[in-house]
Amino acid sequence: MSESSEAVAERFEELYGAAPDGVWAAPGRVNLIGEHTDYNDGFVMPFALPHTAVAAVTGRDDGVLRLHSADVEGPAVELAVDALAPESDKRWTAYPAGVVWALRAAGHPVTGADIHLASSVPAGAGLSSSAALEVVVALALNDLFGLGLRGWQLARLCQRAENVYVGAPVGIMDQTASACCEAGHALFLDTRDLSQRRIPFDLAAEGMRLLVVDTRVRHRHSEGEYGKRRAGCEKGASLLGVDALRDVPYDGLDAALERLGDEEEVRRLVRHVVTENQRVERVVSLLESGDTRAIGPVLVEGHASLRDDFRVSCPELDLVVETAVSAGALGARMTGGGFGGSAIVLTEEADVPAVTKAVEEAFAAAGFTAPGSSRRSPRQGRAGCTDAPGPCRPDAAAE
Ligand code: ADP
Ligand code: MG
Repeated sequence: MSESSEAVAERFEELYGAAPDGVWAAPGRVNLIGEHTDYNDGFVMPFALPHTAVAAVTGRDDGVLRLHSADVEGPAVELAVDALAPESDKRWTAYPAGVVWALRAAGHPVTGADIHLASSVPAGAGLSSSAALEVVVALALNDLFGLGLRGWQLARLCQRAENVYVGAPVGIMDQTASACCEAGHALFLDTRDLSQRRIPFDLAAEGMRLLVVDTRVRHRHSEGEYGKRRAGCEKGASLLGVDALRDVPYDGLDAALERLGDEEEVRRLVRHVVTENQRVERVVSLLESGDTRAIGPVLVEGHASLRDDFRVSCPELDLVVETAVSAGALGARMTGGGFGGSAIVLTEEADVPAVTKAVEEAFAAAGFTAPGSSRRSPRQGRAGCTDAPGPCRPDAAAE
């Protein structure tokens, strides 16, 4: 599933006339549970996909930054590191350039680079292609310039790149997942202090699969709806007198909703965030006690909350969830920011054909574009090079 490091290195040489210093990889992610909680200081639980962004990179000391993507038409884009300025670039190049900007703004001596990248993480499918792009560039620059930063520190800088340089108000989950996930585990992440716990999550060993169904409806995170939800959550926290909605305990939810009076929209947003944090904790305790199948209904509850309270679903996502569950899946929900993108479906291995067929037929009957369904369970990946001394092979990230 990942791009081959050899092919990316070869293309680098064609473009820039010399072999790269190294090749790095960073995965996309799926969030098992904990949606729209990350910018509320709450809990999330992503795991890495075998789909990866791969970058061939050579460091430079002359202030020049050259960027090329195998997935975008056209020649390399040349920028001057001194001239990088937030929100000045509306192209894809804002993601890697933003990482260079964020590193330099934090005082790290990054003096230029030639970068060629290719990614098998589909863009806009809710699998976080943007974070994979940022993290792979950060991993490469961290090694090439000997910065010695750890995965969570790189994740913070990548988030800053996306928030400030690209201008998209995303939380910390995607970058942390891409930089810190490990194979065979989901990452239980407290987005307040970035403390992490690896939770065993090996479905194949238990005869289950997790399908990722791409609705092919594309969203733009940086556009209005996401920002509105985020502002609504901040308003809720402020009306309730807490730093973040994370501070509203589950058993204090009814009282909090009462205090919000006729702020109907804020009440819905608060209810989603508070119940979603509790769902993450339930899933953690079910997985840790080995009761994996029991997480199915919790995923379905999470979807209903995103659809009805947070209102970020869409008819295609709802149809995947309803159809998959009716066809015998253990559970399903939209994943990622919403307004399109992908849904995840937890199912017994034996039921994969029936569930997949039911979803495809329901899409055809509704007149929707055929969904992209990963028939195989995504193997879990991990980021390359976070703590390793040198470049790593992207293929290793897909194991
Ligand atoms: P998501 O992260 O959910 O996939 P985003 O809207 O956050 O969606 O990020 C998608 C954007 O990331 C694309 O529009 C593009 O600018 C950039 N991007 C992702 N993958 C690539 C790639 N392989 N090459 C160039 N740009 C990419
Ligand atoms: Mg993104």
